[in-house]
Amino acid sequence: MVAKLPRAVRQVVLFALAFLAFYCLNLTYKEFRATVSILFADVGQGKCILVIAPNGRTLLIDAGTQTYGQEGKEEPMAQKVASQFARMGVRKIDVILVTHPHKDHCNFLPILAKEFQPSLFWLPVVESSELEWHSVKTAMANSQTKKVVAQLGQRLWLDMKNGLLVEVLSPPEGIVPKVSEWNPNDASTVLKLNFGEISILFTGDIGEVGQRWLLNSGANLRATILDVPHHGSKHNLKTFLLAVRPKVAVISAGRQNPFGHPDSSTIETLQSLGASVWVTGQQGSLLVKTDGQNFSLTKL
Ligand SMILES: [Zn+2]
Repeated sequence: MVAKLPRAVRQVVLFALAFLAFYCLNLTYKEFRATVSILFADVGQGKCILVIAPNGRTLLIDAGTQTYGQEGKEEPMAQKVASQFARMGVRKIDVILVTHPHKDHCNFLPILAKEFQPSLFWLPVVESSELEWHSVKTAMANSQTKKVVAQLGQRLWLDMKNGLLVEVLSPPEGIVPKVSEWNPNDASTVLKLNFGEISILFTGDIGEVGQRWLLNSGANLRATILDVPHHGSKHNLKTFLLAVRPKVAVISAGRQNPFGHPDSSTIETLQSLGASVWVTGQQGSLLVKTDGQNFSLTKL
């Protein structure tokens, strides 16, 4: 026969059990809290960003590198990026967005598209006669991929249940690059990702015309993390960087590139705003993880 425990001991045991249950629940909550991962891949002088939603859906923004006349460099770069994706557990790319059709943003895309079979191809507003862009379109024509041209105001729920939304902020409708003051860089598709209190602005290669238009558009440009326009070039307006006021500024630029990217004054402006600056050519690929409140940065 088990002797009945004194009342005081029972209360202590009950309290301890309640505390243990609360602790376990808290751990479980933390473990399963929805997380978004964003990889800013080091692709030399080019750009390639992958967003992974909590539900596993993926969005690839650009996949290109400057080859400086070295044909065949695209293949090893695609393999390097694909192996990074594999290490992150990515087996499929659902959506591919090309910000603008320059080769440093799309030349190894056909190789990735063949391997990852995207469901949706989000096209840029601008057309191009570049050979690399033609290859991208050929690769997409051969697949079952749905095609949509980017348009101001378009929204895509990457994960509705967990509140992960991306929205097109630019370019405006009806622009004719080269004929007007808009050039293909300025006409890059600009996307804003919102997840809880964290936001990220993806800017392609927009220059002063595109940045000025965004400033006048009334859009909320403030973002936690900024994919710095045009590889951190000198064509970054202080007023634009001030409006974004990022905590983290990621510059995708190759080591010792011939364009002098990133520009030292752009870096100084970002640092004066309190941003941590990450340059892929110097620090390597960057993995950002966020639960919508906090974020972590890891070199990959
Ligand atoms: Zn570029």
